[in-house]
Amino acid sequence: MGQIIACANQKGGVGKTTTVVNLATDLALAGSRVLVVDLDPQGNATSGLGVDRREVKGSIYEVLVNGAGIHETIVSISSTGVALVPSTPALAGAEIELAAMNSRERRLGRALAPISDDYDLILIDCAPSLGLLTVNALTAADSVLIPLQCEYYALEGIGQLIGTIHLVRDHLNPRLTIQGVLLTMFDARTNLSAEVRAEVRRHLGPAVYDTLIPRSVRLSEAPSHGLPIALYEPDSKGARAYNAFSREFGARLASADPARPSGAAAGRDAVPVMAPIIRSSAAAPAASPSAGAH
Ligand code: ATP
Ligand code: MG
Repeated sequence: MGQIIACANQKGGVGKTTTVVNLATDLALAGSRVLVVDLDPQGNATSGLGVDRREVKGSIYEVLVNGAGIHETIVSISSTGVALVPSTPALAGAEIELAAMNSRERRLGRALAPISDDYDLILIDCAPSLGLLTVNALTAADSVLIPLQCEYYALEGIGQLIGTIHLVRDHLNPRLTIQGVLLTMFDARTNLSAEVRAEVRRHLGPAVYDTLIPRSVRLSEAPSHGLPIALYEPDSKGARAYNAFSREFGARLASADPARPSGAAAGRDAVPVMAPIIRSSAAAPAASPSAGAH
């Protein structure tokens, strides 16, 4: 059965979508069956993968709110083999519409269940929020991939994110673990990036991937062409970095698989890689998941 991984961080602009688009593409080009679910009303993963949002027939909105079949919404990206459940701007209203529904946190998980065997990996691109859509992603997921931007406030808000992950694990999804933390927009010319890297490693230890994603103009240009970096500029440092990351990600996923705790066995200690920050974090778990600041 395929893995479902939510790419989440309630901070805006840290590289969630860039990571989802390029990780999905590299894994698909290497032969994996990958589905991207765009769970952000901004729809950046949809457009970044080259799908014109105005031509989208069915989207994740209809699946979550109207109970439409997810099969009918899936678009196949012919150049890379990535499959996509697109987002439309209507998704912005879904938080409010879902709030009144039964099992409002489980609607994405239930929608994905019939197709999860069809893919090796389902990657969910979350919006910069800890609201109901992100809670749906965390409830559907086996694990969370957290991009962290190499900036002064990199760790700010991570306590709240981990608090939310704990809340979801305790109440909605006992199998949820943290897949890893990816440092993005690393600038080798500045001391700040190196300091942030050391600080993040000190707090989060082995959860942090070895691969660093550098700041790269090519990476920021690629979405405006509707192309992943592997097709837009395959020889750029950004393309090489995401390719290295996809290999490290795949290796960790493969090695962690047999040890993955499941069901009732997945207690609070089941996220050992994150233990230091859970103990040291001053931020209490969010009492109720709420929208994060941009
Ligand atoms: P949001 O929270 O709004 O969904 P996000 O976390 O998904 O944002 P991205 O959209 O991936 O973040 O990236 C934010 C901006 O930074 C985009 O314009 C993107 O092209 C750019 N960007 C992402 N990664 C890099 C990088 N490594 N180097 C340079 N620019 C980058
Ligand atoms: Mg995004």
